[in-house]
Amino acid sequence: MLTILFHGTSGCGKDTQLEYLQKDYGFENIGTGDMFRKLYEQKDPDAIIAHEYWNRGEFVPNDLVYKMFPKWLKQFDPNKNWAFVSTVRDAGQIPMFDALLESTGRTLDRFVHFKLSEETAIERMSLRWICPECGASYHEKFKKEDVKGICNNCGAQLIQREDDKPGKISNRLKEYNRTIEPILEEYRNRGILLEIDAAPSIEEIHNTLIKELGL
Ligand SMILES: [Zn+2]
Repeated sequence: MLTILFHGTSGCGKDTQLEYLQKDYGFENIGTGDMFRKLYEQKDPDAIIAHEYWNRGEFVPNDLVYKMFPKWLKQFDPNKNWAFVSTVRDAGQIPMFDALLESTGRTLDRFVHFKLSEETAIERMSLRWICPECGASYHEKFKKEDVKGICNNCGAQLIQREDDKPGKISNRLKEYNRTIEPILEEYRNRGILLEIDAAPSIEEIHNTLIKELGL
């Protein structure tokens, strides 16, 4: 059983890659967003506190996140491959993540980092449009709406998120690169860092991944 951790800035395509691994290789997809939502629905007391941060648009503190994780992991099949997604957001979370895995009898096999250049990030994200009514998302290159500027589902006028404008993308990427570097260094030292260029096609990246992961 493999245990891997996926990381990459938004627009790098990691979610699409993970969908393939789930479908074809039986991976469990384990991320914090689902954990916050589902545990909150179940009225978990830690999730109720986490929700207050979440609601204010703030990061949920590390201690709280890792207090929720052991409860969340119970619902995943221990006999399957596990793929965590963006569950180590700063270097301070690394020992917490190690302890969490240890408590399940697993160790991290690979840290998979999707590298995205500023140029590619801007090309991908600035072509992204969303529906303000139903939340559907579109992409001028990869997922076009049927009638230009109009949502397929509900007919509303599509808009571009403030965050997806080129200047914002560039700033966000700089901030991402600054915070990710100490994390990459740690996993590089452990010899388990796998860096994937996020620019090629979905299929090419998929092939590189399964080869590198020995699937
Ligand atoms: Zn819509």
